[in-house]
Amino acid sequence: MRILIVEDEARLAQALGQILQEAHYSTDIVCDGEDGLAYAVDGQYDIILLDVMLPRLSGLEVARRFRAAGGRTPILMLTARDEISDKVAGLDCGADDYMTKPFAPEELLARIRALLRRQGELVMETLSFGDLTLNLTACDLTCGARSVRLGHKEFEVLRLLMLHPRAILSKEELIVKVWGADSDVQDNNVEAYISFLRKKFFYLGSRVNIASLRRMGYRLEEKNA
Ligand code: CA
Repeated sequence: MRILIVEDEARLAQALGQILQEAHYSTDIVCDGEDGLAYAVDGQYDIILLDVMLPRLSGLEVARRFRAAGGRTPILMLTARDEISDKVAGLDCGADDYMTKPFAPEELLARIRALLRRQGELVMETLSFGDLTLNLTACDLTCGARSVRLGHKEFEVLRLLMLHPRAILSKEELIVKVWGADSDVQDNNVEAYISFLRKKFFYLGSRVNIASLRRMGYRLEEKNA
């Protein structure tokens, strides 16, 4: 189980990391909202602990943007302020639970266990773009009545493109995130997988295309009807 800690108070962040590591969770710690959002979107976390008052981007905004980008990881909001308005705002922005600082380690661990249990019941298991729906558990891609099974790497490439629907993803980013930074995968391997995906889009009759932007990378686009 991996937990992302987004907390700008260094001592609290360290203490949280220690509590969680002792409970056998692995953790990454970032200390501002922008990094928090980037890690949350790119990382494969099981829970996100998110402070509300953060430099660069507030915890509320991080949660809102993360959900808007299709992020489904449970978020446990942390705040120093015991105000009902913050709690409501946090939940409205997509947080799943809320804790007021200071809190006992036992309570934190209990809430994390509760969120992990709840996650098992989540029904939202898909990502969508245009007329395409990617099923994240079955690894199949659907357009209207047609459906096709994706290979593991095809699935990973498309999942990244769908998670960042308006962003341009470079070949280097795709290589690092899909194959790993130490892999010896080349640009033309990425091109091959993009071409497999385009063929599957065509087979499905989808209006979605993976646009190549010269020297920049790839982006999902919807062709006009
Ligand atoms: Ca703070």
